[in-house]
Amino acid sequence: MTPSIQSKLPNISTTIFTVMSGLANQYNAINLGQGFPDYPMNEALMNKVNEVMHHGWNQYVPMQGYMPLREALAEKTELLYGTKISPDTQITITPGGTYAIYTALTTVLQPGDEVIVFEPAYDSYIPNIEINKAIPVLIPLQFPEYKIDWAEVRRKISPKTRMIMLNSPHNPTGAVLAESDLLQLQEIVRDTNIIVLSDEVYEHLIFDNLKHYSVLRYPELMKRSFVCFSFGKTYHCTGWKLGYCISSPELMAEFRKVHQYNCFCCHTPSQVALADFLKNKEAYLSLGELMQERRDYFLQLMQHTKFEMLSSHGSYFVCAKYNRISDEDDKDFAKRITKEYGVATIPVSAFYATGTDHQVIRFCFAKKKETLEAAAERLIKI
Ligand code: PMP
Ligand code: GLN
Repeated sequence: MTPSIQSKLPNISTTIFTVMSGLANQYNAINLGQGFPDYPMNEALMNKVNEVMHHGWNQYVPMQGYMPLREALAEKTELLYGTKISPDTQITITPGGTYAIYTALTTVLQPGDEVIVFEPAYDSYIPNIEINKAIPVLIPLQFPEYKIDWAEVRRKISPKTRMIMLNSPHNPTGAVLAESDLLQLQEIVRDTNIIVLSDEVYEHLIFDNLKHYSVLRYPELMKRSFVCFSFGKTYHCTGWKLGYCISSPELMAEFRKVHQYNCFCCHTPSQVALADFLKNKEAYLSLGELMQERRDYFLQLMQHTKFEMLSSHGSYFVCAKYNRISDEDDKDFAKRITKEYGVATIPVSAFYATGTDHQVIRFCFAKKKETLEAAAERLIKI
């Protein structure tokens, strides 16, 4: 007899990134779907990893992460957000941002707890909540600017609200939170027991001279928050799956209890290399400008298509409406243009547990100019 198990996620199927990248490979399409760069990462950083491996950095580091890397991150946090944090008690290196988010949710959530999630939401959030037997409370971002309706947040808060999840710059929309958003959040959670989970993996990918309003800028918010980051996004190496989480000493102590029996510690050579590479401030400070150039180039190319581009002020992504082309639902449309025109994208309804479909697809512009040009040449034909 084949043993069977009761699914912990009975309503969840394969992630849209795997589906669309699979389709892109199958149809040899240009992949503007899943968010990863197709240009090479920094040569010096690659050489550094190689070098430290040859110098013997191949065994476990402490479970919290390589200390000089945590020190470099504390220094960076103070430089960027004006907040002093302890590398000893407040930072943990994780195998990617997704893992940091999962660990923070698992650290906090008890069955029946409610978590406020803004939709569209990065696709791991809701399964991560449900696997902990907690309840996602969904609030739509206001289309098409994708802004938070704080009055609605106040209405949705209940005695069971345990967490609020934020993501800025936002995937999939490229929306960016303003200082007023953070201040409203601070006001709402003051004198409550609510924990904030802030996904800031695109902290440096921010455009149009906007400032990244990290939760880390607000000491009062910070003491009740887990803030998650990804080196994959900052250094164009999504396949390294390395990130980190910052929190208060008390919350981080609990986070580490979960983390230490899950992965224990992360890849050593990349941590040792990054500790050194972080001294190069220009490498992360110049990122916004670099990606803004790509966004603008892609938008310019897309002017010659029938797509209506929405605004994006950050991240790797820009969304577009296609209602001038078709009235298909977004999943069918995205699949069809992959097969028929050879360009893969992501249907934005995949980021709504409610299935909301505004007939919008997401493009990733973190690509070589040639890739964007080749894709636009195909998209013009639709
Ligand atoms: N959050 C968001 C919004 C993302 O887009 C990503 C990128 N995949 C992550 C978290 C996770 O990053 P990582 O690849 O480091 O797990
Ligand atoms: N963050 C990337 C995206 O949104 C992909 C991550 C993944 O494939 N899980 O496209």
